[in-house]
Amino acid sequence: MAKCASCKAEIDHLIFEEVRTYHGSVELSGSKLTSDIDHVDVEAHYSCPECDDELAVEESVAVSILKGEHNGQA
Ligand SMILES: [Zn+2]
Repeated sequence: MAKCASCKAEIDHLIFEEVRTYHGSVELSGSKLTSDIDHVDVEAHYSCPECDDELAVEESVAVSILKGEHNGQA
């Protein structure tokens, strides 16, 4: 069984949040803006459903936590 490293609760799922930030340039095309996306930053957060502490920022770590193989340090 997976355990939260912060509150020691037994957990069978994590809370997932992903933030994507798009970077690029915009220019005027007639009266509208057209954007050219240069790159996208993706930030993932996996948190404990009991105490809300963030336990992982990588999917592979989240998998390990849920398998009970990881102590939960991000
Ligand atoms: Zn917890």
